[in-house]
Amino acid sequence: MATSPKNSCIYCSLALEGDRTAGVMYEDERVVAIKEPNPAAEHHFVIIPRKHVPSYNDLTEDDISLLEHMKAVGNNLILNQVGPQQDTLLGFLPKALSSVAHLNMQCVTLPLTCGWVRSLAYKPLVFFTIDDLIGEVKESCYNL
Ligand SMILES: [Zn+2]
Repeated sequence: MATSPKNSCIYCSLALEGDRTAGVMYEDERVVAIKEPNPAAEHHFVIIPRKHVPSYNDLTEDDISLLEHMKAVGNNLILNQVGPQQDTLLGFLPKALSSVAHLNMQCVTLPLTCGWVRSLAYKPLVFFTIDDLIGEVKESCYNL
């Protein structure tokens, strides 16, 4: 369940205070986008909703438009920063590998430039793409 901002959450602090040192590239009323400080590819951005959602397991029907917005922001960032020709991945690392308990979407260009161990987190069946997540949330809502 999504809750109000948490003082202990670094992404909530970032979203509230708009910490410029974090490398904010884009922000609007719903999301903040930063440059990944330790990139896994030539271009690697992280899109963080301002609302505190602990993980993708906590999403509800009300969050579908937020997810669609995150996807649009990710695609626009890639288009504006990199150009239209890039292969990209948009989605979520497995919960066990996510360093912050606040939903965050990875936007990475391919090929990955990180080591093979880290790259495993971006493989199909491990990495949860935004389209798959939107599909899952919709399906779980319709099945209620
Ligand atoms: Zn948070």
